[in-house]
Amino acid sequence: MKPRFYLDHNATTPLRPAARAAMVAALEPFGNPSSVHAEGRAARALVEQARGPVAALVGGGARNVVFTSGATEALALALRPSWRRERQAWGGLLLSATEHLAALQGHDFADARILPVDGDGRLDLAALESALEEAGRPVMLALQAANNETGVVQPVAEAAALVHAHGGLLVCDAVQAAGRIACGFATTGADMMILSAHKIGGPKGAGALVLGDGALHCDRPPLRGGGQEGGFRAGTENVPAIAGFGAAAAEALQSGPAEAARAAGLRDAFQSEIMALAPDMAIFGAQAPRLPNTLCFAAPHAAAETLLMALDIEGVAFSSGSACSSGKVRRSHVLEAMGVAPGLAAGALRASFGWNSVPGDVEAAVAALRAALGRIKRRA
Ligand code: PLP
Repeated sequence: MKPRFYLDHNATTPLRPAARAAMVAALEPFGNPSSVHAEGRAARALVEQARGPVAALVGGGARNVVFTSGATEALALALRPSWRRERQAWGGLLLSATEHLAALQGHDFADARILPVDGDGRLDLAALESALEEAGRPVMLALQAANNETGVVQPVAEAAALVHAHGGLLVCDAVQAAGRIACGFATTGADMMILSAHKIGGPKGAGALVLGDGALHCDRPPLRGGGQEGGFRAGTENVPAIAGFGAAAAEALQSGPAEAARAAGLRDAFQSEIMALAPDMAIFGAQAPRLPNTLCFAAPHAAAETLLMALDIEGVAFSSGSACSSGKVRRSHVLEAMGVAPGLAAGALRASFGWNSVPGDVEAAVAALRAALGRIKRRA
């Protein structure tokens, strides 16, 4: 079989061996974690063990972790007007234009307003300040720590200071940032954090909402009835997935900085190689701080779908647009918000490296891209 080279870690990461081992081990204790007998307590122990490392990814407290079926569900839980801190309620919702569609489409506010970003995809803080003043009441802001398509890092701490000065609350989607850059409560000032297991080497179908403090309460969470997860998320816990999430988080905490440094080296080498291939290559978000592992780029006149298929045949896995909904060819709302011309955005590709990436991935990707671009040029 032809070797494969996986450069799509922002879509999902391969399962870490430690996470796989934890999941396999967690299949045996079959009890319901809510049961008081020994079988139930054994399953409960696995869930409780996972809380510490997951919380530590964002410098939070283990007690403030609410396990969910993924980040999409965690965002749907967080972005609701029924959250309260003491008696304070939140009015409207503000979202940056480059948030994940799970935030843009999955919130439960009747009055949501989209805030612009600059040409590099960073939130316009002046627009945020005006929106906070115009709102005239405390609002919630949804702001990613880093974008999944471009890797652009948002000014979360600055935004949190503005939001808090107006009595509001910041929900930070740290799905792509966790384990890759510092994105804890202390550095960002966020009030709630969103995590997903499958972006850090854990399984798909597990995520978390981490609350910044115990004073936050939700009057009407979307899933009610069973009282699990402190009443924030009813439903019997997915014990093996949560155990895998905990193991992946523990490894990401320990190896994350070294993995991120290695990914940055690979990403930078890849960027230099493709600029040498085609000097007119556009790099999106180039002037902004970016995740160390992500590169979003486009060669003018080369359609992303054509390139993706050519690269896949050569064994190289890339992504175009938003990988969370790949399979559907649609315009990237992220590049659109950054003011990228539709023709250029149609050629956007994303390379993202991760915990098991190696220099051979860069070599294979550059060779495949060189061949594909050469063919496109000869046909033109
Ligand atoms: N937020 C961001 C930034 C993402 O990249 C993704 C998935 O790609 C999600 C949220 C949704 O995560 P999940 O697949 O766990 O629902």
